[in-house]
Order: sequence, then C-alpha cells, then structure tokens
Amino acid sequence: MDDCIFCKIAKHEEPKEFTYEDEDVMVFPDIHPQKPTHLLIIPKKHYKDFLALDDEMLWAKLKDVAQNMIREFNLVETGFRLSNNGGGGQLINHLHLHLMGPTGKAI
Ligand code: 5GP
Ligand code: ZN
Repeated sequence: MDDCIFCKIAKHEEPKEFTYEDEDVMVFPDIHPQKPTHLLIIPKKHYKDFLALDDEMLWAKLKDVAQNMIREFNLVETGFRLSNNGGGGQLINHLHLHLMGPTGKAI
C-alpha cells in the first residue's frame, strides 16, 4: 500500500529503529507510549486489519514474537496487555498488535 506508513517503514523507506525485525515481522516502540513499555508488533505484509489475516504461519510467528518481547521486556510477572484495535476503532489500517506494560497485578 503506497500511502501506508507501516508499509513504508517495513520497506525501510522511513527511518525507524527496530526493536526486532525479521523477514516477516517488525517491532518498534509506539510514538505515543501508554505504558513504560509500549511496542507495536507488525507483520511486514499489509493486512488491513485483524479480520483480513488469513495466514496461520504468520499468526503463529506474531505469537512467538509477542511472547519473546514479553520475556525480553521483563513483563512476565508485572502485568501486560496485548491488544489490537479493529472494526474502525483503529487509527492505522495496517494490522498491528500493541504490547504494553507493566499494567500491574490484578487483585
Ligand atoms: P491504532 O491503529 O492501534 O488505533 O493506533 C495506532 C498506534 O500507532 C497509535 O498508538 C500511535 O501512537 C502509533 N503510531 C502512529 N504512527 C506511528 C509512527 O509513525 N511510528 C510509531 N512508532 N508509532 C505510530
Ligand atoms: Zn501497510
């Protein structure tokens, strides 16, 4: 998608420091963090939203990357939130997961 900011970042057309990158997935901090750790976990291929995702392998890879980020950012026992905005509730129409924390312990 020519006018998609996340596609431009995926193609390295926009400068961005990646927290993690492989051929399919990229991770970088949200520019407006809601928690001390607030990462965006994003497939490089453009899917307009979660409902458009039809690739089981990619979904599994996103899961693995999210689990690794939870461990690397020491969120295993601090509370974390993994979320996705969709159905028109999203600002950016390129599938991405938010990982944020610490969110605190439920009591
Ligand atoms: P959503 O689409 O999930 O509602 O929100 C998009 C998120 O992407 C927002 O939290 C916003 O702060 C973040 N964001 C928007 N543009 C950029 C950008 O160019 N770089 C980064 N790192 N984050 C962005
Ligand atoms: Zn895109």
